[in-house]
Formats: sequence, C-alpha cells, structure tokens
Amino acid sequence: MNLETLAVHTGRSVEPGSGAVTPSITLSTTFERDPDGSFSSSYIYSRIANPNRTALETALAALEGGDQAFAFASGMAAASAILQTLQSGDHVIMPDDQYHGTRYLVIDVLGRWGLQADFVDMRDLAQVKAAIRPNTRMFLLETPSNPRMNVVDIQALAALAHQSNALCVVDNTWATPVLQQPLALGADVVMHSTTKYLGGHSDVIGGALIIRQGLEETTGRIKTIQNIGGAVPSPFDCWLLLRSLPTLPLRVRAQSDSALKIAQFLDRHPQIEQVHYPGLPSHAGHNIACRQMRAFGGMISFQVRGGQQEAMAIAARLKLITRATSLGGVESLIEHRASIEGRIVVSPLNLLRFSVGLEHPDDLIADLDQALAV
Ligand SMILES: *Cc1c(COP(=O)(O)O)cnc(C)c1O
Repeated sequence: MNLETLAVHTGRSVEPGSGAVTPSITLSTTFERDPDGSFSSSYIYSRIANPNRTALETALAALEGGDQAFAFASGMAAASAILQTLQSGDHVIMPDDQYHGTRYLVIDVLGRWGLQADFVDMRDLAQVKAAIRPNTRMFLLETPSNPRMNVVDIQALAALAHQSNALCVVDNTWATPVLQQPLALGADVVMHSTTKYLGGHSDVIGGALIIRQGLEETTGRIKTIQNIGGAVPSPFDCWLLLRSLPTLPLRVRAQSDSALKIAQFLDRHPQIEQVHYPGLPSHAGHNIACRQMRAFGGMISFQVRGGQQEAMAIAARLKLITRATSLGGVESLIEHRASIEGRIVVSPLNLLRFSVGLEHPDDLIADLDQALAV
C-alpha cells in the first residue's frame, strides 16, 4: 500500500460497540484481569502499554517500513532510549553538527555513565572510518542535519557501520518517512522527535524509535527501557499524534514545494551570503539528496550579510513569520540558531533557520523581502 493510504488507515479501525470512526482516548491507567488471573485484552497497566499508544506505534512502524515502533514522551527520551541500549564503555560516532540536545545528552548525561563518543563530519567517509574504534557500537546519523542541512549517504554509512559491527541509527525528524525511509536504505533504527513534522501543529511533545525486522536483542532492550525507564507519552498525546498522521504526506509535500521556491528566492537576494537547502544544485549534498530523498523538505537555513546583529534585525522585521524555536508546524517559524545552542555553538552567528509552514509561499516571500530591504 502507498504511504498516503497507510497514513490514513494504519492504527485505526471503527470501534466495536459504538461504531465510532475516530478512536476514543483510553485514560484508564489499569485494566481488569480475567478470573483466572490472565490478561486476555493484552493490557495490564498504561506505562507498559495503552491502546492509544499501540495505535500510534502500529502506524509509525508502517510509515517507516519497520517491524516495531516505540513511542516516547519526547524526542530526547527516544534518543536516551536508543543510546541506553549500549553498554558502559561502548563508543558512538555522531555528526559534528548533531542536534544540540543529543550532543549534550551524550556529553553531559551518558558520558558520566561511561559512553564514549566522537563527533565527526559524516559527509566524509574517510573521517568516519578514522573514528571507528574496536568498541564502536553505533553510528547516529542526522540527515539533513540541524541546522546546516548537511546531507550524508545513509546507504554507505549503514554498510560501514555493519562492517564494524555497529548499529546504524538515523534521526529522521527533518525528512520524515514521506521524503526518506532510512530502513529501506539499510539503517537499523529510525529516531523521531514527533514534536516536529509528525505532530505538525506545535501542540505535542513526543518521540519515537522504529526498528527494522530481525533486531530482537535491541528491540527487547528498547521495550524494557520504555517500560521500566518510564518516559512514556500520555494517551492524549498519542491520540493527537495519530490524528496528525493522515495529513503528514500532504503537509510535508506542500512545505517542500514552498521551501524550494523560498530557497531559490533567498539564493538570488543580494542581502543573503549563503543558503543551505539540499534542493539547490549548489548544495554539497544535492546529488545524495536526489538519490535518497523524494523531495528536499521544509527546512532552510541561510546566512545573511553581516553578523548576529544583522541576522537578529532581519528576524525582528518579519511580520508573518514567527520568531520561535522548533519546526515542522503549520505556521512558519524562524530562529537565530546560535543563540539557543548553549555553550557549544556550531551555527554561524549570521545564520537563521527557517521552518516553512503551510502559508502561501508568495506571502512568505513577500514577508522575507520586506524584512531584507534596508
Ligand atoms: C527537536 C529535535 C530533537 C529533540 O526532540 P524533542 O521532542 O524536543 O525532545 C531531536 N532531534 C532533532 C533533529 C530535532 O529537531
């Protein structure tokens, strides 16, 4: 079945009894046992499993083409869970412009538990090879990356990870399964901040891991971490996320179409020093993106002429586009990225990150045009 159809139907069915077409929210924390002590409904306690979470996980597994999915209370909880499948003393290779939260998780939290990490430019396979150690057990990719829109070759990196007996995990938050399916390219695990495009309306924090078939040990560990670690999403959050999935393919395609137009406009503008968008032929990852993505996504970052002050001033003059962090919602958001990254700043000071919403692209271009005119 095609993705659009899976997005509407997986995890949903008409409810027996009421005939309700839209699923109910099951708030009950606990479920009745059979007289003989068994649980024929398969539900026991909502931290272990809940009908709304099961529905969401079923849909997410189908969209990514995975065997099983696990939903978490945030993207960071999902990142913590996949890293916690490793052991103390294991080594992970990550991109040097990894989402800052994941970087701090590895350095500040898991580093104290003995996790070792190297941050390299994963566009360069030679750098990745040089970073491999005997204890390397995971490659954690992010493509396109946050915020510089670096594109890495999932197929090549998954093959290299497997040669080294390491798992290949891909943070697919920015591309979504609509544009890129890492498991089909050889990756083992997909990670999402469902807060972003999957949620799509800036009203729910969530995360997920989707695992390919045949990884029983990792799947079992994640199940334990989800249940015993306890960072599970609420039934209402799961319901909101499932509600968002049917429109995901339409939203992401519209956002990608608009982003390409806006990137082309910015690329021609004299006030702009550089545009980072994989849909532009000048982007270093354009050819890989053409191979592994169906379109180039709704995220653009660009460097303005000048420094932090000029970038902030342009953001301040925007009227339609809101200054806020996060991405993937129906409304366009812009952010001066360096000022939210904390103590390790990887973004150039003149960089603005733009999450293209569902407004008409001409209105967004007009807003940018007036903000760039000095
Ligand atoms: C937002 C984000 C995260 C973290 O997710 P939260 O839902 O905020 O915890 C991880 N990776 C990427 C690429 C993100 O954009």
